[in-house]
Amino acid sequence: MDNLGSNFIKDIMIKDLESGKHDKIITRFPPEPNGYLHIGHAKSIIINFGLADEFNGKTNLRFDDTNPLKEDIEYVNSIKEDVKWLGFEWDDLFFASDYFEEMYKRAVLLIKKGLAYVDDLSADEIREYRGTLTSPGKESPFRDRSVEENLDLFERMRNGEFDNGQKVLRAKIDMKSPNINLRDPVIYRIARATHHNTGDKWCIYPMYAFAHPIEDAIEDVTHSICTVEFEDQRPLYNWVVEKCEMDSTPQQIEFGRLNVTNTVMSKRKLKQLVDEGFVDGWDDPRMPTISGMRRKGFTPESIRNFVRETGVSKGSGAVDSQMLEHYVREDLKLKAPRTMGILNPLKVVITNYPEGQIELLDAEINPEVPEMGIRKIPFSREIYIEKDDFMENPPSKYFRLFPGNEVRLKHAYFIKCEEVIKDINGEVIELRCTYDPLTKSGTGFTGRKVKGTIHWVEATNSVPSEFRLYEPLILDKTEEENDEVEKTFLDNVNPESLVILQGFVEPNMRESRPHDKFQFFRHGYFNVDPKHTTVDKLVFNRIVSLKSSFKI
Ligand code: ATP
Ligand code: MG
Repeated sequence: MDNLGSNFIKDIMIKDLESGKHDKIITRFPPEPNGYLHIGHAKSIIINFGLADEFNGKTNLRFDDTNPLKEDIEYVNSIKEDVKWLGFEWDDLFFASDYFEEMYKRAVLLIKKGLAYVDDLSADEIREYRGTLTSPGKESPFRDRSVEENLDLFERMRNGEFDNGQKVLRAKIDMKSPNINLRDPVIYRIARATHHNTGDKWCIYPMYAFAHPIEDAIEDVTHSICTVEFEDQRPLYNWVVEKCEMDSTPQQIEFGRLNVTNTVMSKRKLKQLVDEGFVDGWDDPRMPTISGMRRKGFTPESIRNFVRETGVSKGSGAVDSQMLEHYVREDLKLKAPRTMGILNPLKVVITNYPEGQIELLDAEINPEVPEMGIRKIPFSREIYIEKDDFMENPPSKYFRLFPGNEVRLKHAYFIKCEEVIKDINGEVIELRCTYDPLTKSGTGFTGRKVKGTIHWVEATNSVPSEFRLYEPLILDKTEEENDEVEKTFLDNVNPESLVILQGFVEPNMRESRPHDKFQFFRHGYFNVDPKHTTVDKLVFNRIVSLKSSFKI
């Protein structure tokens, strides 16, 4: 599908194919089903699927479901949906939990080889014994248990004879290693929890660092691509593959995580936003989740193009969120029909237009794509315009409507403001205008010029609509601002990230369906919201405004 350009991972793959180390590239995308996918995962998906695809290889979707405490089938389903929606098809679908028996056997093998032992230290003690970057670790008093005792205890751990936390299985490597990950890492723990796939069959679960290399090796993954935080774990990854005597030897390769400004990119934090009610679910359009971005109106193409542009490297600086907006604008420019919507309505009565008459005016659906054709827009004596397009006492250089001024109504006529109607509080509630029939759009009228063009919708047939405008959910603050007091990312949540307006759209929008996308004249691109739209009211999410100063 999309070409990723040249990068260091691709170079490794080329070399491995040329040298004959592998004859087929096999990658996997291995999410833990403990949350919804976010834009960072899209990067991992695109790299894994994209690279394998370039070499006619294969990519598996594998759920890394070894921690039942946080995992759920809801997440499994959403992840499948999101990967497909992004445009990728996995070759095989695997669950790490299907390998629990195999993993158990490999752990037993380690014990038999004197390379793993059951430890009775508590989690706190293990942490304490581990040492620091500058000081070596200390060996557990249980480290030299005999193979027989370890085999017996490990089996009894499996059989449920001990409480959670009472015992763990540790790899016996080197408590003095400069790499802390090699200081006898825990590889199995006791956790009584119902697993979404294996139910209550197990009460011991393998740790990520032990499970992941085994999963990769079982599946004959050739290149196990992950993010740079795992670089220090690579020696452990290789240790597990070797000592567990796996038939195949995957190579772990790390790349830099994707970070985007004005957002948080961790399932744990995103879950907190959901659980604490800052947003209305994982698919809230303000969320950087794939489902949130889909609901906001991003297209798979725009996300893929954005991710490709960010490239594949070891670095992980934050990418400007405006770049994401740039790509969705680019994608929708030629796809989205143009239309008019009034977000903040002010009624205008055109006093010299015949009562009861409705005429249909022509407008191009997308002037940049003439093949998209023409739409018909009704015009009558009563229309709505934006409140913002009128000022009773305008400053100089204000070219929109004010008493005595004439403006062009997009696709229609010139109108002139003759009278301002107010309510008892002095609020402007209606304008009385006149129109000039000679100025009809498309007739080539050159009699006189006006400086302002505003949009409108015909009032009697218009469709009541809600507009949801979004600002960044997270405000980026400088380090100093964050350091002032103990702050968490929740302190940076923008209290004004959602503005809801009630207005109207053109009558031909009545047939719109969830996820239809439009460019509203002057307002930007909008998506019909799949959750809140009803037969009585359309709800539009603003995807992005029209303009930006952002330059690629
Ligand atoms: P999170 O910290 O958001 O929970 P994770 O790394 O724990 O992310 P996993 O489900 O383990 O989430 O991720 C699946 C794959 O996606 C992993 O290979 C991981 O490295 C990759 N990934 C996660 N976040 C990013 C990111 N921001 N940029 C690139 N790849 C990512
Ligand atoms: Mg994780």
